[in-house]
Amino acid sequence: MTNKIINIFTNETDISLETKSELTKILVDKGYTVTEESRDNADLIICIGGDGAFLETIHSCKFPQSPIIGINTGHLGFFQEISPDCLEQFIKDYENGQYSIQDLSTVEATVTLLDGRSNMHLGLNEIIIKGRQSYAIHFGLSIDGKPLERFSGDGILVATSSGSTAYNYSLGGSIVDPRLDLLQVTPIAPMNTTAYRSFTSSILLPAEISLEIFPEQEDNRIFILNDGIETGYSNVKDIKVEVSDTMVHLMRFKNYDFWNKVKTKFL
Ligand code: NAP
Repeated sequence: MTNKIINIFTNETDISLETKSELTKILVDKGYTVTEESRDNADLIICIGGDGAFLETIHSCKFPQSPIIGINTGHLGFFQEISPDCLEQFIKDYENGQYSIQDLSTVEATVTLLDGRSNMHLGLNEIIIKGRQSYAIHFGLSIDGKPLERFSGDGILVATSSGSTAYNYSLGGSIVDPRLDLLQVTPIAPMNTTAYRSFTSSILLPAEISLEIFPEQEDNRIFILNDGIETGYSNVKDIKVEVSDTMVHLMRFKNYDFWNKVKTKFL
């Protein structure tokens, strides 16, 4: 018998709900305390669903320190690890310590307003900075305090390595092996004309380097999206984007192979 606490989150699809009740029964029979409320002291968090459900779990648990494992009932599942057909084997491997922990970096954006107030947003996949609706946004972009370009276009996306296969890839960004710790800055519909000059491809920055954004108009309206969660701001002075100290501790089992997932999903 065990006194471990397991936190289970799920999306609402039939297969996820069935998997949750099967898993809960197995765990309760083995003496685990199973809860659906976010608990700081959980020994393990289990998320049943696809990558979208995984992101939701991470945000609703406020980027937990506990290890987390995903059971994939979605499409491919880059974060998700376990098949719903292998619950008994998963618990056996967990109890025998037959796993490793993959520490995933996150990206944070600190938005400072002209009146001095500031706010922070954290993303596991990415941070997006864009203008309102389909208006172009114009801003200066500095790397580590040094001006690099004057950007004009729909916006920019700053992806972590593990977020590189999400929206970043749809925008023409590169797939990055999650073992590399870096930020990928991918332009969204950059203008590149005689009037405006912006990079048209992604740039890669080492994890210890930050980037700063300085909107050109003082009465600006800017939107930040962290993993798809949108927040609007007015009168932004600057936005600093950098790798955060917060990490997500993903449990991986012996068959995990990032490049095989990439091959299956994209080729
Ligand atoms: P959603 O619009 O319901 O799902 C977007 C898709 O992105 C889903 O198929 C999801 O996989 C997949 N996905 C999420 N993270 C991924 C990752 N790290 N690698 C590969 N695929 C990934 O939105 P959501 O479920 O709330 O997820 C928010 C994320 O959607 C954002 O962080 C952004 O990256 C992504 N997104 C992509 C586009 C695009 O590609 N054009 C547009 C908007 C947002 P599952 O099917 O397994 O859930």
